[in-house]
Amino acid sequence: MQDYTPAIAFENIEKNFGSLKVLQGITGSINRGEVVAVIGSSGCGKSTLLRCFNRLETINGGRLVVNGMDLSHPKLSQTQLRRLRSQVGMVFQQFNLFPHLSVLENLTLAPRQVLGKSRSESEEQARFYLEKVGLAQKAEVYPEQLSGGQKQRVAIARSLCMNPQIILFDEPTSALDPELVGEVLLVMQQLAQEGMTMVVVTHEMQFARDVAHRVIFMDKGLVAEEGSAREVITEPKSDRLRVFLSRMS
Ligand code: ADP
Ligand code: MG
Repeated sequence: MQDYTPAIAFENIEKNFGSLKVLQGITGSINRGEVVAVIGSSGCGKSTLLRCFNRLETINGGRLVVNGMDLSHPKLSQTQLRRLRSQVGMVFQQFNLFPHLSVLENLTLAPRQVLGKSRSESEEQARFYLEKVGLAQKAEVYPEQLSGGQKQRVAIARSLCMNPQIILFDEPTSALDPELVGEVLLVMQQLAQEGMTMVVVTHEMQFARDVAHRVIFMDKGLVAEEGSAREVITEPKSDRLRVFLSRMS
């Protein structure tokens, strides 16, 4: 049966770090199969919002439902947390691969430990996703032997190995040399075309315009502007967004 509830719904959510109010009552939703780009100046709360979505941060107020799980409560059981983390993948700017494990081991660790898959089943799946990100030949190497772009593609494959419903990307290309950005964006574009639900914090305005269905512009912990990529990026309404975009180009 088709599920028409939003993948992520957030209403008036607040997040403070001590007296610093980082998310100040932010509201929105991410639909299933939707690719949403989140843009905004450094420090406006983009990473914090993303981290709330998979409970790396706990919200201080408001309502947050992710893939049917209510994350508004201050306490979640280990079982709920494990379920959430397997359903919601995250790809970080700094890849976060385990340096002492081979690529294949990086990909099979969580499926074996968290999902209880057998070695052979998890390896078969890992090879399938490595092929998908164009790294079938790299299964046996260690992360330090890979370029940044390859590392990030491994990180994406690792995320896919958990069969997530949603993948959160936090500036996935910001740590890469410019010539390696394209190969990562291409893999992300392919995922988008296959219908993956994706929230992408990015400074790649071309990607946001061409791949995202919707763009959210955050400013000081709030949604300042949102709409179709064309609306937000080519027809900004506020001066703040205009200034932000002019600095990006
Ligand atoms: P962005 O990703 O948009 O650059 P962040 O969400 O990382 O912004 O940070 C928003 C604000 O919250 C910044 O002022 C940052 O210093 C602060 N912040 C983020 N994480 C923490 C934390 N764990 N403890 C204290 N302050 C934090
Ligand atoms: Mg950030």
